[in-house]
Amino acid sequence: MSASSSPASSPVWHTALFPAPPTAVLDRLDALYRDLHAHPELSMQETRTAGIVEAWLAELGCAVTTGVGGTGVVGVLANGGGATVLLRADMDALPMQETTGLDYASQAQGTDPSGRTGFVAHSCGHDMHVTWLLGAAWLLAHHRDRWSGTVLLVFQPGEETGEGAAAMIADGLLDRFPRPDVVLGQHVIPAPAGSAAWTAGTAMSASDSLEVHLHGRGAHGSAPENSIDPVVMAASAIMNLQTLRSRETGMRQSAVLTVGSVQAGNSDNVIPDEAVLKLNVRTFDEDVRRRLLSGIRRVVSATAAGAGAVAEPDVIDLGAHPLTVNDPAATLRVAAALRTVLDPDAVIESPPATASEDFGAFGTAWCVPSVFWFVGGTDPDAFAAAEAAGTVHELPSNHSPAFAPVIRPTLEIGMQTMLAAASAWLGDGS
Ligand SMILES: [Zn+2]
Ligand SMILES: [Zn+2]
Repeated sequence: MSASSSPASSPVWHTALFPAPPTAVLDRLDALYRDLHAHPELSMQETRTAGIVEAWLAELGCAVTTGVGGTGVVGVLANGGGATVLLRADMDALPMQETTGLDYASQAQGTDPSGRTGFVAHSCGHDMHVTWLLGAAWLLAHHRDRWSGTVLLVFQPGEETGEGAAAMIADGLLDRFPRPDVVLGQHVIPAPAGSAAWTAGTAMSASDSLEVHLHGRGAHGSAPENSIDPVVMAASAIMNLQTLRSRETGMRQSAVLTVGSVQAGNSDNVIPDEAVLKLNVRTFDEDVRRRLLSGIRRVVSATAAGAGAVAEPDVIDLGAHPLTVNDPAATLRVAAALRTVLDPDAVIESPPATASEDFGAFGTAWCVPSVFWFVGGTDPDAFAAAEAAGTVHELPSNHSPAFAPVIRPTLEIGMQTMLAAASAWLGDGS
């Protein structure tokens, strides 16, 4: 998503809440970001990143717990009475090759759980999220006179695969740490650095990933009468699945059903035994989601039966991200806080995004309000030039191999937006 207008020039540091970190600390954070960017790690494998986080938090005097839900790290900063605020950053990178050409671009490779080795890149900006939260932690730890309460610093593994938040919760997060009054998180996006976007209520879609195995019977390509052709079955299933969106989803509802992968056979004259589809479903409403997911099973089953398949299709759940629902009252509190550290005109209310997150799992598990918002990370001058040329849509966005936020002033801005939002709940220390 992108904000539609550029912010007016705003000071890089707003001193109302916390003084700017010393230049040496900003330089350390800048170098730390470049290091994380050059050394990305796949979901649930963030051991190096977790080690860096652990060392930084320990240096600050945080109570640090590592290995929460795999590679998750939790730091606790307790500073007298007051609210408990959970601040979350995700740590994982994506299985893709970076093309930014930056001198700190990733050359790293990784191996996923299926054994596939390939390039890894921080093309979603989670390296910036980690740096923001470590910077915010530095300020909280060094200016305890400016706030009171308890801050939980949650560094989550495996956001991209939808595993990490659930893994931390399954590993006893709720029993091992104090219950927060609010859960806060932010994501960098291709909007001007100095801008932010927020949504009250449903903010991001739910995402479900499925793999469907269609079972036919192989034969020579010259004798289709001896086969039950899974390729034709797959083609029918793909077309029939689209009617779930066009015929079974109302015009005021919205959903996306994408068949992103079709695999069957290796040769032009061999009819294979099996076809495999990979599907992704995005929805903004739990009823629509349930109906689509059950519809997928019904459609592939009926399509296979109609083709005389030798067995029922296997439908395998590849993972899901829940809906991200921002508590409306807490969201307005965050938006007001963001306006105290950014140009108020650059803090924009925006419609729900079709991207997905597992951030919402924390607030849901604890039954507390949560708010997730977006922070611009594009050079404001480059954004303004793209706006003037009508090419904003060509700016690299999250998951593009060319995506990387401009480090300064994105680094300083994200620290301030996180601290401003947290301070809307924390005491002022007086
Ligand atoms: Zn992502
Ligand atoms: Zn992300």
